[in-house]
Amino acid sequence: MFESLSERLESAFKQLKGEGRISEINVASTVKEIRRALVDADVNYKIAKEFTDKVKEKAQGEKVLTAISPGQLMVKIVKDELAALMGGEAAELELKATPTIILIAGLQGSGKTTFSGKLANYLKTKKGKKPLLVAADIYRPAAIDQLKVLGSQIDVPVYSEPENKNAVQIAENAIREAKQQGNNVIIIDTAGRLAVDEAMMTEVANIRQAVKPNEILFVVDSMTGQDAVNTAKAFNDRLDFSGVVLTKLDGDTRGGAALTIKYTVEKPIKFVSMGEKLDTLDVFYPERMAQRILGMGDITTLVERAQAQFNEEQAKKLEKKIRQNQFDFEDFREQLQQIKKMGNLKDLMGMIPGVGKAIKDIDISDDAFKGIEAMIGSMTPYERNNPDVIDGSRRKRIAKGAGKEIQDVNQFMKQFDQMRQMMKMMNKMGAGGKGLKALG
Ligand code: GDP
Repeated sequence: MFESLSERLESAFKQLKGEGRISEINVASTVKEIRRALVDADVNYKIAKEFTDKVKEKAQGEKVLTAISPGQLMVKIVKDELAALMGGEAAELELKATPTIILIAGLQGSGKTTFSGKLANYLKTKKGKKPLLVAADIYRPAAIDQLKVLGSQIDVPVYSEPENKNAVQIAENAIREAKQQGNNVIIIDTAGRLAVDEAMMTEVANIRQAVKPNEILFVVDSMTGQDAVNTAKAFNDRLDFSGVVLTKLDGDTRGGAALTIKYTVEKPIKFVSMGEKLDTLDVFYPERMAQRILGMGDITTLVERAQAQFNEEQAKKLEKKIRQNQFDFEDFREQLQQIKKMGNLKDLMGMIPGVGKAIKDIDISDDAFKGIEAMIGSMTPYERNNPDVIDGSRRKRIAKGAGKEIQDVNQFMKQFDQMRQMMKMMNKMGAGGKGLKALG
């Protein structure tokens, strides 16, 4: 995401490398580069100009401290300004009302239905809510089926009336049903059109009038660049929505929509959607996004993803096994499974500062673990619990069972052994009182 913008900004900052101080001349040429980079990322020229004028003003007003180079100072100023442009603080969903009614609007294909499923999943698993999904698309029967499939995957009920052609009525009936069934959040997925269209707007506006939603979320495909911003304007003029959802940020988007929607419609981006899996929804944090754009990674999100998978009891058990030098293949497999649950591997690695750029052209699919898992799967439980018994003939059998070459198994065994040696060494350091604690 935003790779080309990140690269361009980085090369703009490079101009300041080696400079001892901020001067009018070096700031001017850096700022010009930043402006070009933004325009190429599909940021409207007027916004880009205003942005860089602010950056220039700030940079020239700063006294460069000896501890910080002009390059670093510029990165900090640009990061703060990018975060401010995208909204500054994160905007929370308004969930106080019972039931909370959330209306979802947007063009067809923007990712509305997928997002509705993701939002239901998020509210259920992260906020302890009992959502009801409502299929209010009366034109495409397939949309009802799609929502039902999503609902069944996350075990959330879906309300629909396939024969009813009145979307307002469906929404009203759904609210009655939710109250009866004790659902405290109602997510209404409305019909979209391929382009902004008066009949669609009127229909959504009518639903809005009838059900008085607590939130109206406008869903938009971030790959559509400036069009996304224009569509947002049209929807906001009619619906006065409360927040924006940017989808398909996992794709090759240049960034313009993410950077300028907030500025243009004065409504916050509340969520970003990064994939087709139902657990790839993130609350939008302008500051973290600015860091990612500048190649600083996003350790906060990475840690949060890890914490979501963290199970204290399991962690204690694992720690004990490592302390007693008993880490085995069963533990290894468990760890792999936990990492996989945290999300797409490349996406995760991209959150580590500096790594995103380094791996951008490398194909890291989630299949990376498959070979290892197949080898562990091909071991007997006894072998998994006692890695040391795995001799030559057992290796041959494991390779065959996993569809691998014996060299693959040898290499994996060697790596596993090195890992255990490292753990042993750390344990010894710990016993001497100079363990990891002393390092941290
Ligand atoms: P709707 O017509 O607005 O309801 O859009 P859908 O939810 O049916 O999504 C349209 C297409 O985009 C589907 O193929 C989805 O799988 C895909 N899609 C939705 N959200 C994302 C996303 O965040 N990333 C990617 N890569 N694809 C998405």
